[in-house]
Amino acid sequence: MKIYSRLKIIVFSLISLGLVFYPSFSAHRQLAKAENNYPPLDKLSLPILMYHHVKPLTGREDQMQIGLTTTDQSFANQLKVLRDNGYQTFFAGEIPDLLAGKMLASQQSVALTFDDGYDDFYNFAFPLLKEYQFKATVYIIYNAINAPGYLTENQIKEMVASGLVEIGSHTLDHVDLKKASSAEARRQIVLSKNQLEARFKIKVKTFAYPFGYFKPETISLVKTTGYTSAVSVIPGDIQTKDNLFSLPRLRPKNLMGEKFKVELLQKYHFQK
Ligand SMILES: [Zn+2]
Repeated sequence: MKIYSRLKIIVFSLISLGLVFYPSFSAHRQLAKAENNYPPLDKLSLPILMYHHVKPLTGREDQMQIGLTTTDQSFANQLKVLRDNGYQTFFAGEIPDLLAGKMLASQQSVALTFDDGYDDFYNFAFPLLKEYQFKATVYIIYNAINAPGYLTENQIKEMVASGLVEIGSHTLDHVDLKKASSAEARRQIVLSKNQLEARFKIKVKTFAYPFGYFKPETISLVKTTGYTSAVSVIPGDIQTKDNLFSLPRLRPKNLMGEKFKVELLQKYHFQK
């Protein structure tokens, strides 16, 4: 009996201690969660895959169109490879937060990006993204919204509401920012952001250079406009604070299975 009553005292004391310390412990945890403080990273191995068209080939396409097309079949296979290998998808606009330690990167992180805002993204890629619950960033040419072959305003609204699609800017008219005058470059970079934000009630954080063309002045303009990242067409998968405005990307094309895994997801990791 004596042992039991001692045990009772011990158990009661432990519970009391828990009652005293648990609130402060959980408050501390909530604070940590609110600040989202993870160790900042010098560099992050995160392949940003660059797509244009995702659709079946009809046989009527020219070489250029074929080069810009990933068939819906290849795309489905690539998503399966990503899932089977435990990849977690991030928006391109989240890369600065991952590097700063505001978000936690996964061991296998990847970003799916789609340039130009073609309507085949809605028809063929978006249903697969929903199936896999994978995130993607679409770089929209603002003045092409509702044009034949491009995404409509309603499609964009629906995709934004799904939480799976981030909208980035790809200028107003897909101009060559290396050749454009400073005033024109500014208009393309600033107005596309402002108008996308107003029309879709979103924050546009990321930018893609049309044709991958930019010069140092373009980068300063993108930075001062308030974007926090920009993607290039430089091949690679190592993301750092120094290349936030020229993030390298990789072209998945129609690679499938092991080939996709080795050539896209693993090839550049050796540069770490
Ligand atoms: Zn483009």
